[in-house]
Amino acid sequence: MNVEQFRADLRAWLDEHDLTPGPDHSLRGQMQQLARVHRALYDAGWMRYGWPVEVGGLGGPALLRAIVGEEVVGRRLAEPGPYSMVEVLAPTMIDYAPAELAARLVPRLLSGREHWCQGFSEPGSGSDLASLSTRAAPHEDDWIVNGQKVWTSFAQFATRCILLTRTGPGHDGLTAFVVDLDTPGITIRPLRTMHGVDEFCEVYYDNVVIPASRMLGRPGDGWRLAMDLLPYERSTCFWQRIAYLYSRFDALIAEADDPDEGALGATYLALHTLRCRSRATQHRLAGGARLGAETSIDKVLLATAEQRLYDTVRDLLPGTLELDDTAWRPEYLYSRAATIYGGTAEIQRNIIARRLLGLGKE
Ligand SMILES: Cc1cc2nc3c(=O)[nH]c(=O)nc-3n(C[C@H](O)[C@H](O)[C@H](O)COP(=O)(O)OP(=O)(O)OC[C@H]3O[C@@H](n4cnc5c(N)ncnc54)[C@H](O)[C@@H]3O)c2cc1C
Repeated sequence: MNVEQFRADLRAWLDEHDLTPGPDHSLRGQMQQLARVHRALYDAGWMRYGWPVEVGGLGGPALLRAIVGEEVVGRRLAEPGPYSMVEVLAPTMIDYAPAELAARLVPRLLSGREHWCQGFSEPGSGSDLASLSTRAAPHEDDWIVNGQKVWTSFAQFATRCILLTRTGPGHDGLTAFVVDLDTPGITIRPLRTMHGVDEFCEVYYDNVVIPASRMLGRPGDGWRLAMDLLPYERSTCFWQRIAYLYSRFDALIAEADDPDEGALGATYLALHTLRCRSRATQHRLAGGARLGAETSIDKVLLATAEQRLYDTVRDLLPGTLELDDTAWRPEYLYSRAATIYGGTAEIQRNIIARRLLGLGKE
């Protein structure tokens, strides 16, 4: 498959098929729009390229998925956060779920029939994920889960959750499941956020019965699964987020009355550096490389570029963030989360220092 021809054909298709979002900009509206976009792209085949045939895909390199994300999110047809969930969770299902289960469930995610979420973080376990305490205990052919998750994005709209549990001591005592969120004993409570888009939830698990067939991998594979998932979060997902940031950079240039070339230049440089790095990552992924700690560099560059862009918005559009009811304010506030989600900036720098540069513990 010729990648540039693929992009040209996709662009032509998007020009012909109007998927512009409607007037409802609430989170519910965004999730409905995402489902609409996924459905249309899946039915036309676009959403199936780059995914294995075994899960309803049409094959080809993962680069094709990155291009679809870049075009869809860069055109603002879907928001980057919700759009990224497929890229985070589908590869995990493909790599770890029993083949029959992945073949049955993944097409539902790709086609927009379902949203899924990621249940890793807990009130006492974020950076130190391996300390999590939500327990899964074996009971005949099932596992019984008890505990609490937090910061579970989009759980209130999700049908299923990739859930990380404790089944024994230490890193080898973590086990993942794919859980149907309508199972009795699950309570989902959305949380208020400062930027007004309430994507997070607390999710409580009280004696929730999960069939053993829903385990991802084997007992004790949870840590490996989590480590394999994070690089996906920092590869194809980032490519579409970068397209979104470029579109916002263009909007800033259009709106700024007094463009400060120095500030805009520095912002462009941060975005361009990120894009160059991310391009290399997409190509390594497409070449079959197993991504690892080096994607922490991509995460640091993304957070730096995103926050610099919105700091420049604050400086070049005086009063807009503080006084106007435009999209810039929630976007500025959300950009503060870029140094937290998917692993904090401090943790990424620790990983770069210890695992990539070999600088030792302190
Ligand atoms: C927008 C957003 C979406 C999210 N979505 C999800 C989701 O869908 N599912 C999910 O499971 N989680 C999600 N999270 C949670 C996210 O993974 C955690 O917030 C993150 O891992 C940090 O954990 P924490 O919040 O517990 O902070 P903590 O780990 O308590 O960290 C607090 C501070 O201490 C610093 N710190 C901690 N340990 C060290 C150390 N060893 N060295 C130096 N500094 C350290 C951190 O850098 C941070 O500044 C989301 C978070 C955000 C912001």
